[in-house]
Amino acid sequence: MSINIQIFEIMDKCIFCKIADKEIPAGIVYEDNEIVVFNDVNPQAPVHMLVIPKKHIESLNVVDEYTDAGWILKIFEVIKKVVKEKKLENNGYRVVINCGKDAGQAVGHVHFHILGGRKLSWPPG
Ligand code: AMP
Repeated sequence: MSINIQIFEIMDKCIFCKIADKEIPAGIVYEDNEIVVFNDVNPQAPVHMLVIPKKHIESLNVVDEYTDAGWILKIFEVIKKVVKEKKLENNGYRVVINCGKDAGQAVGHVHFHILGGRKLSWPPG
């Protein structure tokens, strides 16, 4: 029974969980025990990174302020750190979470886009 559940979990693992578990390659920019930052494979700006919790969470809709408090508290420090490393802090950058179909969320693992290195128009499409 437990073997079947483990096989199902492996087969069903999302692409960002596979990146976090180093089962598929990615340009990893930062990693700690709870968070991974990697380069987006289809960049929409000169700098386009994705920040994810290692824990699989489908979308922002199901983030829980209590059980997810650890990575939530840390994530903005991590964003500030990688933004500084990429020298984006002076000119600016954008942090985006797409949630659900109207926002075009394509990967069902909550992620923060960090976009920078060019002038970003507003409103977004
Ligand atoms: P979203 O539309 O907000 O769900 O964004 C998903 C993002 O994941 C897109 O910008 C994709 O280009 C990016 N993406 C999908 N697969 C990979 C991958 N294997 N490595 C890096 N980025 C990826």
